Amino acid sequence: MKIIPYARQDIDDQDVSAVVDVLRSDYLTQGPLVARFEDSVKSYCHAKEAVAVNSATSALHIACLALGVQSGDFVWTTPNSFVASSNCALYCGASIDFVDIEPLTYNMCIDALKSKLIIAALENKLPKVLIVVHFGGQSCRMEEIFSLSKKYGFHIIEDASHAIGAKYKNIQVGSCRYSDITVFSFHPVKIITSGEGGMILTNNLALAKKCRLLRSHGITSELDEFDARPQSEIWNYQQVDLGFNYRMTDIHAALGLSQMSRLNDFVIMRRSLARRYDEMLSSLPLLTPHQDSDSYSAYHLYVIRLQTGELKKGQRQVYDELREMGVLVNLHYIPIYLHPYYMEMGFKRGYCPEAESYFSQALSLPLYPGLSDEDQDRVVISLQKVLK
Ligand SMILES: *Cc1c(COP(=O)(O)O)cnc(C)c1O
Repeated sequence: MKIIPYARQDIDDQDVSAVVDVLRSDYLTQGPLVARFEDSVKSYCHAKEAVAVNSATSALHIACLALGVQSGDFVWTTPNSFVASSNCALYCGASIDFVDIEPLTYNMCIDALKSKLIIAALENKLPKVLIVVHFGGQSCRMEEIFSLSKKYGFHIIEDASHAIGAKYKNIQVGSCRYSDITVFSFHPVKIITSGEGGMILTNNLALAKKCRLLRSHGITSELDEFDARPQSEIWNYQQVDLGFNYRMTDIHAALGLSQMSRLNDFVIMRRSLARRYDEMLSSLPLLTPHQDSDSYSAYHLYVIRLQTGELKKGQRQVYDELREMGVLVNLHYIPIYLHPYYMEMGFKRGYCPEAESYFSQALSLPLYPGLSDEDQDRVVISLQKVLK
């Protein structure tokens, strides 16, 4: 039985030779390819600065640090995401909190955010940073979130791990038009891959400089960044901050750069597969993904919502039976605060009712550029059988 995964990278001969070329070159890391990959992504997104790192998780961590997140601060995000969207605040010693989702897009709910901000303002507990996630590749309503950030004075990080290639109001996600920083992931299940990798986009030169410093131990080789006090050692490098080794290698950057040339094609293929699902699934007892009119989704995920009230089977049984048939559906996401680590911090079931209700009905169907029509038909036929 052929297994159909829920996601899969698409690697061609150009990708392979780009990586091999690096292996035969002088630099495996800290060579020219990282800067070229950064230039490619930032010009694609029309952002001023780009900083490549070894994962989106690292990117989120140093993005929080660059915005000054520390112990005593509050960071808010959505419960409907991968844990990295939230862990980054904990790495900085801050407190994390969650804003419930909208019932249609499964993105952060603007009304829930507004109510939570009103209460937080009264209690003097406003967030320093809001991390929004463009779930499944569809942008959040950034204009409204941006205007709330001006009113209440918080920073915005867009966790766009699902959304390179997406647009909002015809503007490329990553432009940072409505945020301080945008983060991308290049893990193999995402829209393009570098093996492992992530990138920080910003229009703020100071934030980019700070991220570059934190990416590599807090060490600088720029004379103008040196501490020139008499007791300081002035050689070719100085550590001026406490950073990490979050560098991307040239091997990874070569793959990422090569994949950039097919980014638009990948998104077009994903969107056309999604449209095909929309049509084929229209008579089944489930909801297909709702799309806002402002949104051009990159379709990282194709999430269906089972109308469990009309079914004899529960979500778990549907999931298990499809997987037994070789259709590796997945579940995005367990609300972050329901993970044991977060429950131990005091979060309780029922905290974000929309996220929990969504979670009890959602399934992600296989979706990736190399998914053949035949395999997609098999996914749909399997689903029809299981739901009958
Ligand atoms: C994949 C993902 C991450 C983490 O990305 P890595 O590059 O694997 O660290 C963070 N946030 C979201 C929403 C993701 O989907």
